[in-house]
This record gives sequence, structure tokens and C-alpha cells, in this order.
Amino acid sequence: MEAPPEHCPGTDSTEAGKASACQGCPNQQICASAKPAPVDPAIQLINDKFSGIKHKILVLSGKGGVGKSTVSAHLARGLATDENLSVALLDIDICGPSIPTIMGVEGEQVHQSGSGWSPIYVEDNLAVMSVGFLLPSADDAVIWRGPKKNGLIKQFLRDVDWGEQDFLLVDTPPGTSDEHLSIVQYLKGSIIDGAIIVTTPPEVSLSDVRKEINFCKKVDVPILGVVENMSTFICPNCSTHSDIFPASSTGGVRAMAEEMDVPFLGSIPLDPSLARCADQGLSVYTEHPESSVTKVYLDMVGKLIVKIQNDSEQAMET
Ligand code: ADP
Repeated sequence: MEAPPEHCPGTDSTEAGKASACQGCPNQQICASAKPAPVDPAIQLINDKFSGIKHKILVLSGKGGVGKSTVSAHLARGLATDENLSVALLDIDICGPSIPTIMGVEGEQVHQSGSGWSPIYVEDNLAVMSVGFLLPSADDAVIWRGPKKNGLIKQFLRDVDWGEQDFLLVDTPPGTSDEHLSIVQYLKGSIIDGAIIVTTPPEVSLSDVRKEINFCKKVDVPILGVVENMSTFICPNCSTHSDIFPASSTGGVRAMAEEMDVPFLGSIPLDPSLARCADQGLSVYTEHPESSVTKVYLDMVGKLIVKIQNDSEQAMET
């Protein structure tokens, strides 16, 4: 086949070979007679299930253990501190679904109704669903390796009955694997507002985060912000802040975000009280309302809301 014309509708389009741009194209006959690739019917079902959700946000990280689930959970809790907002949190981190523990709903049973699985409400305005609810124990995550993973993710996106929500945060598996491509493809039709990328400062996770940013750019998912986690340590005894990773060795996450032209959302200190809250399923906002971590989270939530509002307004203007 020769090079396509400038406004080529694409071979998957129903317009392939029929659009005005196709006139005179040497491939016109081939395209017009080719059958378009079948669209996965699950995508329409997912669109329908997500149609009541105003804003959808993916939370990504290059590696496991950088605090992605903790950030997802606390951003969700932070958004839900505004009782006028309804917030949902979906955990499809099949490698290690930790959201039930962090949200204090470990061992809960999900219920099924005619319209799908009902999420578990942690607060009146905070709904949670996790692949972890389907596993008899955390150690069983291993059974989801291989081709079953995509099927499970699809099922989760398709079968949860979210109803009306202002925000949905999706805690995804770490890395940029096939699952991420599937997630983006399944959600594409229902418009993702963007992704939040979580990282720790050392070079190795920064290079992973660069991959993550490039992945988003490639699949056309806007980056809402990069979060730096566990950069400084706050001593529980004397409240002194100590840098764990010297910024000079990496230039820091903020510098990397600037260099890659993506927003920097904030820097969360390593704080044992946050780890304790996460382990015990408690909210840092109610347990430690005055702590630096809580302030950083509330600041990030505020920035996120402003960014999403601005992006939505811009999208309406164009
Ligand atoms: P991931 O989802 O990236 O695998 P988690 O969110 O499960 O990572 O976090 C890994 C561990 O680090 C958990 O025990 C969590 O409580 C802890 N943790 C995450 N962020 C912080 C922080 N800012 N301060 C202290 N502990 C943290």
C-alpha cells in the first residue's frame, strides 16, 4: 500500500475508502472493500456504565511500592472531604490490590444487583470497588497472571454499577504493560480527564516515570500532574524534615516535570503516621488534620480540581 492521503479516515473507520479525502487515493479500492475491525461490544457497555461519572482519572506509577495506592486512596478521601462531591475509587491493581486495606474495608463482600456489582460506601459520598474484594486472600493475586488479567479488568470496568459520581479515580497496576493499553482502550470512548503519575525521587523511578509520561502522550491521555512521594522524612518526635534522596542527584521530580512540560502536583513527605493510617484503614484527614501530609494532600486536591475545571472549560471552548 502507498502512503495514505493527508486526511485519511483510517482503515478502521466506516468512512474508509468513502470519505472525500479518499478520492484519488491509490488505496481507495482496498480500503472500501475491507471490513472494519470489529469493535469490542464491551466498550459500549463500559461507556454506558461510566456515563454518570463526570471526571475520570487514572493513577499510574512506573514501579510498585512508590505509594500509588496510598496516593489514590488519599486523593479520593481528600476530594470527598467536600461533602458536595461524590467520589468513587476503583482498584484494578491486580498485582497487589491494597485499596481495601487502605480504605478500611478489607474482607467486605460485594453485592450484585440486576445492574451490576454495587461498590462499597466508605463514606456517604465515597464509593470503593477493588479486585481485592474478589480474592479470598491477598496472596491469591498471583492467580490473575497471564491472559486472565485483561478479562478481569474488562469485567471490572463493565460490571460495576457506579451510578452518578463527580470523580472516579482508578488505581492501576504499576508499569506500562498490556493492561494499561487495555484500560485506556476500554475507557477511551467515555473520555478520561487524564492521569496522575506517582513517583519517588531516585533516578531509577524517575526513568520509569519518563516512560509513563511518554506512554500517556502516545495513547493521548492528558497528564493532570506528577506527584512526588516520600521525598523528605518528618521525624515523629521532633517534626524535623530531613531529605532522604538528595535532589542534586536527580534534579528532583519537580525539575523533571518542568523539563517534560507536565504539571507538578506536589511533594508528599514520608510520614509514619500516614503509613499507620493506611495500614489501619483510617483517614489522615480526620486522624491528623493539622499534619504537613494532610496539608500537602489538600493542596494537591485543590490543584487537581482547578486543573480539571480549566481543562473542561478549554475543551468546551474548542
Ligand atoms: P504502591 O501502590 O505504589 O505499590 P503503596 O501505596 O501500597 O504503594 O505504598 C507502599 C507502602 O508505603 C505502604 O506501606 C504505604 O503505607 C507506604 N507509604 C506510601 N506513601 C507513604 C508516605 N508518604 N509516608 C509513609 N509511608 C508511605
